[in-house]
Amino acid sequence: MPFEFECPHCGIRTNVDDRYSGQSGPCAGCGKTVTIPTIGRGGVTVSPTASGGGAIIAVVVLVGLGALFVCSGMMMWTVRRAVPLPAPAPALTGSTPCDNNLRVLALAMHNYHDAYGTFPPACVAGEDGEPMHSWRVLLLPYLGRKDLYDQYDFDEPWDGPNNRALIPLMPPEYRCPDDLLSNYDATSYAMIVGPGMLSDGESASRMADIKDGTSNTIMFVEAHGARIVWTEPRDLDGGAMSFLINSGQAGELQGHADHVKTVFCDGMTHELPLGRAPGDLRAMATIDGGEVVDIP
Ligand SMILES: [Zn+2]
Ligand SMILES: [Zn+2]
Repeated sequence: MPFEFECPHCGIRTNVDDRYSGQSGPCAGCGKTVTIPTIGRGGVTVSPTASGGGAIIAVVVLVGLGALFVCSGMMMWTVRRAVPLPAPAPALTGSTPCDNNLRVLALAMHNYHDAYGTFPPACVAGEDGEPMHSWRVLLLPYLGRKDLYDQYDFDEPWDGPNNRALIPLMPPEYRCPDDLLSNYDATSYAMIVGPGMLSDGESASRMADIKDGTSNTIMFVEAHGARIVWTEPRDLDGGAMSFLINSGQAGELQGHADHVKTVFCDGMTHELPLGRAPGDLRAMATIDGGEVVDIP
């Protein structure tokens, strides 16, 4: 009999066969060691363990899928635990380099969340309230770029003398290969920042704050030509932007010929087609607006 198991580190839920009870292995979502509890009649409780080995749990849940996809599906499940695990979404079959970038960034966000208990804020401000550092720098250790992170000096702003030297070293994940509008040092991807959104600047959201559901809430969008240097603490202004797709205006949703790619908070990518109603897109950018919107 399979039973539901919740990772105590990252909260991902999955079904585990009871023959694995009492055994340890890495969580498919966060990789940390977990012990499958012994099943009792009154429900299942779990505590983290410091040691253990084997790939048992990963084998159980990684049935031929990439870890991120498993992670995505399970996170959606966590938020909507009353409903059965949804069928894999069609968007997962489209896997362009741009989709892959967005999924890698979303996975890094979740690993950051595992470590800190929140997603990163859009920016970190200095004592004067001016934005100093971007989420893109905070994410570096979770993109396998601890080396670059360690070279960054958080005591000076992003454009200080030390940090300016890192601008040409943008990790490729921050750039859509089809972005012909941005300079070599500019990112193609941005958060939508504003009240009620994933971050309103310095604020950081937790998974639990995303009341609309991770599968209904945008994490990053494409903003080709917005001229945002990748280390610059600047994103799209959710309060001021039009939410029109490919309007040609800087600081708006701008991407591929007939669509803009986006990744939602569950790690799944979607294409926002030309002509999609701006009101829908704004609703997808809020974390707890309570709107019901068809996801493309
Ligand atoms: Zn986990
Ligand atoms: Zn793209």
